[in-house]
Amino acid sequence: MGSLRNQTKLQVYSRLPRKCDVPVNEQGRYLKVSQYYGENVFNYHLSKNLTQEDKESLNQVLNGKKQINKELATKVANSVLEWAISKGATHFCHWFQPLTGATAEKHDAFLNFDNERPMESLSASQLMQGEPDASSFPHGGSRATFEARGYTTWDLTSPIFIRESTNGKTLVIPTAFVSYHGDALDTKTPLLRSDLKVAEVVKKFCHLTGEKSVQRVFTTCGAEQEYFLVDKSFFFSRPDLVMTGRALMGSLTSRNQQLEDHYFGLIEDRVLAYMQEVEIELYRMGIPAKTRHNEVAPGQFELAPIFKDANVAADNNQMVMTILRTVALKHDFVCLLHEKPFAGVNGSGKHLNWSIATDTGMNLLEPSHTPHENYRFLAVVATVVEAFYRHADVIRMGIASHGNDHRLGANEAPPSIMSVFLGDTITKILDSLISGGSYTPDLKRTLDLGASQLASLNKDNTDRNRTSSFAFTGNKFEFRACGSSASIAYPLSILNAAVADVFAETNAFIEKELAAGKSADEAMIAITMKWYSHAKSVVFNGDGYSDEWVVEAQKRGLSNNRTTPEALTVFKDAKKIAFLSQTGVFREGEIQTRANVMLERYIKCREIEFHTQSAMVSKQILPCALAYKNELANSINTIKTAGGDVSVETELLKRLGETAKSLITKSETLVSSLHKYHKTLDESACADKIARELMPLSTDIATLCNQIEEIVPEDSWPIPKFYDMLFIR
Ligand code: ADP
Ligand code: MG
Repeated sequence: MGSLRNQTKLQVYSRLPRKCDVPVNEQGRYLKVSQYYGENVFNYHLSKNLTQEDKESLNQVLNGKKQINKELATKVANSVLEWAISKGATHFCHWFQPLTGATAEKHDAFLNFDNERPMESLSASQLMQGEPDASSFPHGGSRATFEARGYTTWDLTSPIFIRESTNGKTLVIPTAFVSYHGDALDTKTPLLRSDLKVAEVVKKFCHLTGEKSVQRVFTTCGAEQEYFLVDKSFFFSRPDLVMTGRALMGSLTSRNQQLEDHYFGLIEDRVLAYMQEVEIELYRMGIPAKTRHNEVAPGQFELAPIFKDANVAADNNQMVMTILRTVALKHDFVCLLHEKPFAGVNGSGKHLNWSIATDTGMNLLEPSHTPHENYRFLAVVATVVEAFYRHADVIRMGIASHGNDHRLGANEAPPSIMSVFLGDTITKILDSLISGGSYTPDLKRTLDLGASQLASLNKDNTDRNRTSSFAFTGNKFEFRACGSSASIAYPLSILNAAVADVFAETNAFIEKELAAGKSADEAMIAITMKWYSHAKSVVFNGDGYSDEWVVEAQKRGLSNNRTTPEALTVFKDAKKIAFLSQTGVFREGEIQTRANVMLERYIKCREIEFHTQSAMVSKQILPCALAYKNELANSINTIKTAGGDVSVETELLKRLGETAKSLITKSETLVSSLHKYHKTLDESACADKIARELMPLSTDIATLCNQIEEIVPEDSWPIPKFYDMLFIR
């Protein structure tokens, strides 16, 4: 048994960094990134087949001023086709994001026939609409199989691009995925709606407060992606990693992350070679990877792009995950995107840096140098704080998943309590504002003082708080609680809906103040005070990991939904979820669909974990324990006959026996309870039992396995250990 593990290790020791084709010019010199960046992205501005007039029409379509017509779509399809085949693409696909959280694609060849003559073609309708048989995608009971038709529709706002693979190229058309009745069956559609909603209310806000030239508003996002790399050979020797993405047992190495030597440490050559190939692929596809570094846990890394508008950022992040995974295999790694692959070391998140921008170049979360604009900044911050406070439970739901429970619900960054970090400066300014009670000259002085402090606030001197779920970081908020494997579109659409909801009230308030003869500045100060004094309890600048915060948050009346089933109960609270449909971001039916899909996924994923764990216990761990037991028993007999001391052997035999006994009992209970709950309870009660009873039981089982791992000889352990997976590359 153990020899296989040793062979695997030897194989891994001898791996070399992989060389890939770095883009070069005709003389063989390396190209600058700027020379090949975006070469696989279709840019209609550069298309020779489109007239200037076509391009202007397309611009208007992109800015939401008109809808695309068949004639223009045909022209675009033709120029896309010509570009794609000139690059060597043979197929196209509608690429969409069903409620699995991943992406889906169905490829069609350009190949067609003109009578008998083979040719390439892409029609306007092929570009604009697809009809995947959608019955196999999660729909949460919203459709019967007989009305399984779904449509994919081209999203003009996200660029079309080419994906290269070993033996060919595919044209990828980003699309939304909706049902026959037009319900969103994906994560993109609500995000697009939410972005429009934010645009509408924030544009109005800008106009009310004097920024009359603003025409277009959009939300921005830069998603930092954390991941683990494990050698392929170790990965495939661990059924739990293959089936669930997470090690369901494994004894922690004595040195893991306590020396804090991995974070920002030297990137090993084999890993760096991987990162470089990932980046080259991303650059070609127009995805601006910016930062790469080692993360806190051994074997953990991060990639962060330069931010873009939220919809494109969400598409890009899906592609980042795909490329991280596919390139990893070429390097004999497997990239783990699970939130908690290894118990005991840090898990992986996805930090969503988020802000609101205008076509006039404003970032509404940028504290500017003039007090006048600071009032606007403060009003925006206060509105966002109110939104986060008011809709915290729904926002928490938006990041709920079985994987993320291991971060949020456990003692890890960030906690499951949704709070906002503003930093000392802004908190002081806001506190001094509201402590004055009403808008008085005296107060104004305080604010001016605050505002001038604020002017010197730049990104470099805002303090950092790594423990907050939603932290202000100088000119944007960083939503740190999203899971590493999740689609960012879903939480972003909820966050946007929450912000749009409160912004509409901000606008109504300001309008009233203006009508009463107040200045825009006075109105903005008043709304800042109103929201901040109402929502202040969600602001917390201290240590979010501490036990004191849990107690304090409870005193403040903040929710603490530690598990997915708890987080999903918000779906039963019509009042709390009303804003999702009132803002038009989700239709009523779509909300129910998501509630069902999330619950179902939680149960299914946990079931797979439990079954995988119990299979590993009975097929791998117990046989190993019993073999060693037998070995000990034999040596006890031999030693006894020889008159030697058998106290150590006897003690080990006893310990091993007890642990194995307890292990088999618990493992059987886990599976039988699961069957019982499945049969007798409805989904919601079943999920609850899983979270409350079966998860702790599964953790106990892991602990028992780890105890056995500690007892049996190193060489006979049947699966790769944490040591192998985290340290050998
Ligand atoms: P930090 O030092 O706070 O990590 P960075 O400037 O490195 O800040 O940014 C981290 C991430 O935030 C990057 O993905 C970056 O592109 C993104 N980001 C920066 N500004 C904005 C913004 N206005 N809106 C959304 N994301 C942003
Ligand atoms: Mg980070």
